[in-house]
Parts: sequence; C-alpha cells; structure tokens
Amino acid sequence: MPELPEVEAVRSSLEPLICGQKIAKVTVHHEDVIAPLTSMAFCRALENSIISTVARRGKYLLVGVRDDASRENLLMVHLRMTGQLICEGAERPLKKHTHVVITLGNGKEIRFTDVRRFGKMVIFPGGDVSSDHGLATLGPEPLSDDFSPAYFYERLKNKKVRVKAALLDQGIVAGLGNIYADEVLFAAGVLPMRVCSTLSKAEVKRLCQCIKKILAEAVLHKGTTFRDYVDGEGKKGGHQDFLQVYQREDAPCYVCGRSIQRVKIAGRSSHFCSHCQK
Ligand SMILES: [Zn+2]
Repeated sequence: MPELPEVEAVRSSLEPLICGQKIAKVTVHHEDVIAPLTSMAFCRALENSIISTVARRGKYLLVGVRDDASRENLLMVHLRMTGQLICEGAERPLKKHTHVVITLGNGKEIRFTDVRRFGKMVIFPGGDVSSDHGLATLGPEPLSDDFSPAYFYERLKNKKVRVKAALLDQGIVAGLGNIYADEVLFAAGVLPMRVCSTLSKAEVKRLCQCIKKILAEAVLHKGTTFRDYVDGEGKKGGHQDFLQVYQREDAPCYVCGRSIQRVKIAGRSSHFCSHCQK
C-alpha cells in the first residue's frame, strides 16, 4: 500500500509532466472510483481546467486545478491498496483495470489504474476539504517541524493503545502505513505491542526522530515496491533493498542474528526483533 514516500514519489515524478497542462478530456471507465459524482459531473468539473499544483498531504495526492472561471479546485487522489497514477503517451496500450483517463493538452494521458478498486478520486470545489473526514482530521506532516518530540509525547502519553496502532493513526501523524511503522519501531528499538502510555519521553523522542529519518531515506529511494507500487512514470521504488524487518519473518535480524518475528496487532502484521526491541 502506498505510504508517504511512495505518494511523494508519485507527486514529484508527475509534477514536471502535468503542471501547467490543460485538461482536454476526461474519460471514466468505472464510476465507483469517482463516487458519489457521476461521470458527467466529474468530467465537467475537470475538462478545460489547468493543472496548477501537484501537492501531497499524508498519503493523499492533491492536484490543484484552475477552472475557466479562475476558481482553484482540488482533485484528491487516494491510491489506497493497489492504485497507480501514471502519465504516459496515448499510444501506450491501456492497462487492464484503468478506471479514469485524463487527456492533457499535449496529448499525454494521466491514467488511474487500480486492480482492487479501493482507490478514490474526489473533487473539492474551491479546495475546501472539510467535507472529507480523513483529510480534514489528518495529523501533522512527519517531515515538518510541526511534528516534534513534544507534540508526539503529548499525543501518546495517556493513550492506552499499542504503539503500532498509534503510528498507523493518521490523526496523530500523517503518512505512515504498515511498512514504515514496522521499520520505525525497529530503528527506535521499541516493541510494536508496547502500550503508548508506558513509553518514556526518551523513547517517544527516539520514535519521532526515527520516523523523520526513515521516511526521508525512503523518499530519497523513491519508495518501496513489493507488488504494485510504481511512481508517476511507471518506475518502481528502491527502498525494498533497505528494509530491516518488514516481510522478513523467520529471517535473521541484521543486527543480532536472531529470527525476525511476526504478530498481528490491530489486525495488521507486525514484524520485529524481540532482542533488539524492548
Ligand atoms: Zn535483532
């Protein structure tokens, strides 16, 4: 599932290809990815707009579109499990499971493909995202100064949930999913099943620093590709070669040599080393 580094790689690869382009035509093959809008309303809202910005918030891609009345609207794309957003030439064959095609003024196409069809494209008129609960309640960006050890400790100190679940809570910190949560906990030396309220200030500070460090590294490597993830040019990421624990069940820990273990926490697999993490 694309997390912050993968969505950031999609954003940074798409930006030079689509920014400033006019949207000439929109074709919707499956209406469920644009629900509750109908195809007609979705196409009408986008056609003849100019793409003005390509931004990211947490795991959401936010494409700014200026309509012919100079109103700035927002097209939000959430890739969820298997979504891909690729800009390519119209001559390239359409992949199976392509649900939306946005044809640009230069003839190139932005194609939204999603095998599992959990992904979403939503238009926010005037850029007002308050109607979207997920976007409106997002916590701070982990790579910004708003996400500090002091903030993080305040949010965790009275929480009775396990720290793995707190890292996945987008309202506490935006952008972490299962891969990077496991990697962060290993790097910080904290077991995923620890209850948040038992964490010391020093442990929370270490977690905060490791979140920033690991996400920044993964952004540099343009994300992690296990199965479906590719960036806006169809390229795979490179961070899978740097993972320490994720999907390494029974393999030896790179630090101590003991076997990496896996447990389910909050319904998600957690990978950890019971020797290196306390
Ligand atoms: Zn170890």
